[in-house]
Amino acid sequence: MSAAPPVAARLLRVTGVVQGVGFRPFVHRLAMRHALVGWVRNVAGAVEIHVEGDVEEIRTFHRELSAEAPVVSQIDAVAIVHAVPTGSCEFRIVASADADGNRPITADLSCCAECEAELFDPANRRYEHPFITCTSCGPRYTIIRSLPYDRERTSMAAFQRCERCESEYLDPANRRHHAETVACPECGPSVWLTDNSGAERSRGSAAIRDAAARLRSGDIVAIRGIGGFHLACDATDDVTVRRLRERKRRDARPFAIMVRTLGDARSVSVVSVEEARLLGGAERPVVLLRRDEESPIAPSVSPGLDRIGVMLAYTPLHHLLLEAVGRPLVMTSGNLTDEPIAIGNAEALRRLRDIANLFLLHDREILAGVDDSVARVVDGAPLLLRRARGYVPRAVRLPVASPRPLIAVGAHLKNTFTLVRGDVAHVSSHIGNLDSVESLAHFHDSLARYTDLFRIAPEVAVRDLHPGYLSTRVAEELGLSRTIVVQHHHAHIAAVAAEHGVTTRVVGLAFDGTGFGDDGSIWGAETLVADLNGYRRAAHLRSVPLPGGDLAVREPWRSALGYLSLDPASADAFALAFRDVADRDRATAERQIERRLNAPHASSLGRLFDAAAAVLGLRARCSYEGQAPMELESLAGSALAEPLSFPVRETDGCLVLDPIPLLSALGELRQRGEDLAILAARFHESVASASAEVALAVADGFGLDTVVLAGGSFQNARLLSSVRTRLEARRLRVLVPRQFSPNDGAISFGQAAVAASVLARGD
Ligand SMILES: [Zn+2]
Ligand SMILES: [Zn+2]
Ligand SMILES: [Zn+2]
Repeated sequence: MSAAPPVAARLLRVTGVVQGVGFRPFVHRLAMRHALVGWVRNVAGAVEIHVEGDVEEIRTFHRELSAEAPVVSQIDAVAIVHAVPTGSCEFRIVASADADGNRPITADLSCCAECEAELFDPANRRYEHPFITCTSCGPRYTIIRSLPYDRERTSMAAFQRCERCESEYLDPANRRHHAETVACPECGPSVWLTDNSGAERSRGSAAIRDAAARLRSGDIVAIRGIGGFHLACDATDDVTVRRLRERKRRDARPFAIMVRTLGDARSVSVVSVEEARLLGGAERPVVLLRRDEESPIAPSVSPGLDRIGVMLAYTPLHHLLLEAVGRPLVMTSGNLTDEPIAIGNAEALRRLRDIANLFLLHDREILAGVDDSVARVVDGAPLLLRRARGYVPRAVRLPVASPRPLIAVGAHLKNTFTLVRGDVAHVSSHIGNLDSVESLAHFHDSLARYTDLFRIAPEVAVRDLHPGYLSTRVAEELGLSRTIVVQHHHAHIAAVAAEHGVTTRVVGLAFDGTGFGDDGSIWGAETLVADLNGYRRAAHLRSVPLPGGDLAVREPWRSALGYLSLDPASADAFALAFRDVADRDRATAERQIERRLNAPHASSLGRLFDAAAAVLGLRARCSYEGQAPMELESLAGSALAEPLSFPVRETDGCLVLDPIPLLSALGELRQRGEDLAILAARFHESVASASAEVALAVADGFGLDTVVLAGGSFQNARLLSSVRTRLEARRLRVLVPRQFSPNDGAISFGQAAVAASVLARGD
């Protein structure tokens, strides 16, 4: 008889996104495979594993732990140390421990393929169960009350597991082993349909069929989902879509649609390989896809645009409903324009009763409102336009750790906030524009939830430079011992640099609508030489008066008039911009410019796009910010085009781009009958070429080799791609946003990166 091999023991600590993703059951299976004993448990922010057995088997276990981890998990590090064997004779999953430290929380996960198959299998006991989930799918962040992630600390605590669910939960061989959301038709949440007074019409599968039939006949249905309510209607019925627009008070801003499968997405739009990957990923964002010419989607879904926002069903309820409806549905956030998304049943009935005819409700409480994320593919890689469901509250590392916990309150528009401890940044979901009581309340609720979940008590506040923003007041009212102020475009550039781990000086192009400059004027087309600690303005667009101030955002003719006031000789070339403008309005605006009354100076790229749309005669008025730029991009498509003249001159050591010759040329060419699409393309190439030349000159002048592209204007794929290509052709390294949006949603992360660096330096 040979001696038993010596028993070794090791303690492993796995950090990253490892809770709520089936990690412990996976570890259990792996330990069984290698005949190891010991235990695994969730501790705050990590999974701890104690294994003992043959030393070679432990080595293989350690290797396979990273190699075979569940696809939805994300391992940051595995630390391994020697431990003392306990002589245990089994491997167990033990109860969670709690401790301090950073605590990753899993984002909500879309329904996985195995659950989807069971959902449509009449022989399965969860056939048509709208709350089917497993260890790899289902809600997470939006149902978690506190950590660690166990059922009793989620809104699933209201549902007692039945015997069969309990045995699956306890069975290490079952794919629902330790699935905290496990449920079935016997014991789980349920779904029902009401009219808009709250009176119940039907329940369960009948409710879903009932809702589907009403959707097909033109009703608007409010549907409770994972992060809040959607308003749904038949996306192929133009009359119904327009009725929804009227009731929601949303004229033209595009609606997202939902289809059940990738095949369905291909029947309404053109889908590339990368777009398919993005559509079908566990995050399931809305993806902007090129509309198919034969597409049955109603024109009023995305008026004037060549793209539609498409997402695939991501909850079992969506799958069942779309299967029953058999056509694409508009799925837009359950709110009135600019208000936060509704999450509770009673709240939705109160707020949405004048919009929806029917309500498809359920009783699994939503603890946090989270909107759908939005993304597109540019040059073969995803570009996030709104980071929300599926991505939050995933933590992101800062390149420089903050010596003190801090809160960055973000921008005024498309607000998010960021909480930081050490080098870990927790960026909130999209909150919206901070200009109403409701969105302010949403901000405070989200902040309270984040400080509680992540147990961060900030000591430093970080805010924008603008003295008048509500976010500035919010930061001051936090009453923290110190407030750090960060300029808007510096924050844009810092956000992109920081997510790429870059702390050295870069040339940053920050192109957007509006940000408060350090000279008191409005900035918005800036080239800064910047690192995380500071910046210097190296180039910008020529500044123009914007008569009517904020009105200019909705009325592109005002931007055109501002430019014209700098060069009255171009009046003929600018004529199309004022075709539909009343003489009286124009005269008032001219007086505002003359007397410098309510005509702030701005160097905004967004307003230059507006002015271009106006002189081309495309539109003098918009119903949402960004409409003119989006339409110009749609028109330009991928048509090849030569840039027009867009001169740069130097003033006081700063390069200034003068767009007046460009606008004049566009107006003249259009009046001579040149094709609108070609002119839109030439406009894009002119901006891209001039910006790239400026970036190159600044890079040369300062001896820099890296350019950062940031700001809402880079949501425009043609602009982003063209600037990048031009710079890379000249051997510059170009960094673009990946984890965050180019737009103001990234500002809080940029503010946090700057503040952490400033604090770390001891300033
Ligand atoms: Zn699943
Ligand atoms: Zn059950
Ligand atoms: Zn901005």
